[in-house]
Amino acid sequence: MTPCGIICLKKAVSKHLLCHDAMNDYYANRINRCRPGHGASCALCCGSHNYAVAPQEIGELFSGRCRGGAAGPALHQDVACAEKLFHDAIQCSHVGMDPSEPGMVCCLLYGEDDRGGDVESFFNGTCKNFYCPAWDDLTDRQVLFAARLMGDWYYYSLLINDNAEVHDLCASYDRPEDVPAEELVSLKERLAERLMEEDGK
Ligand code: SF4
Repeated sequence: MTPCGIICLKKAVSKHLLCHDAMNDYYANRINRCRPGHGASCALCCGSHNYAVAPQEIGELFSGRCRGGAAGPALHQDVACAEKLFHDAIQCSHVGMDPSEPGMVCCLLYGEDDRGGDVESFFNGTCKNFYCPAWDDLTDRQVLFAARLMGDWYYYSLLINDNAEVHDLCASYDRPEDVPAEELVSLKERLAERLMEEDGK
């Protein structure tokens, strides 16, 4: 765990690159950390939180993006469309929300037949093979606990990338419903503060 308890966005894309088929089979048999159900989803490693605006505005931006809706070639993941929070971290412009799953973040290029040269290369070389520490360091029960507790894209993403908070919650409570409302508010404040602390480091 990093000192402030949250995976650093700047380091995320370079960590845990796995290409081995056996490892991919292992991950395929686990609860999908990126889309665990219960209204939760994550695209933190794609820079879903790397916008210099409030979470609600990011959500509105994502809702306005649609699969196959952009004219012209897909933008490379290094190309940002909005002001960044962390200038040297990724802000993929293809993270969005499909109208069929409102509130759920996803890769709008996933399933596209032709993403274009540079984008195809990045997609196959990095996106498809990246697994954050939540895949190894959290149990399926812990992931589902986090998903049921948050049930969103913004705080669920931050929580599963803060292993210590997840471990503490699961050690203290049998069910997400048992977490007191005031503790949930405090938890969200801590997670948001830690995200901001990443800036400039
Ligand atoms: S940070 Fe982890 S859970 Fe979130 S999108 Fe990336 S790989 Fe999936």
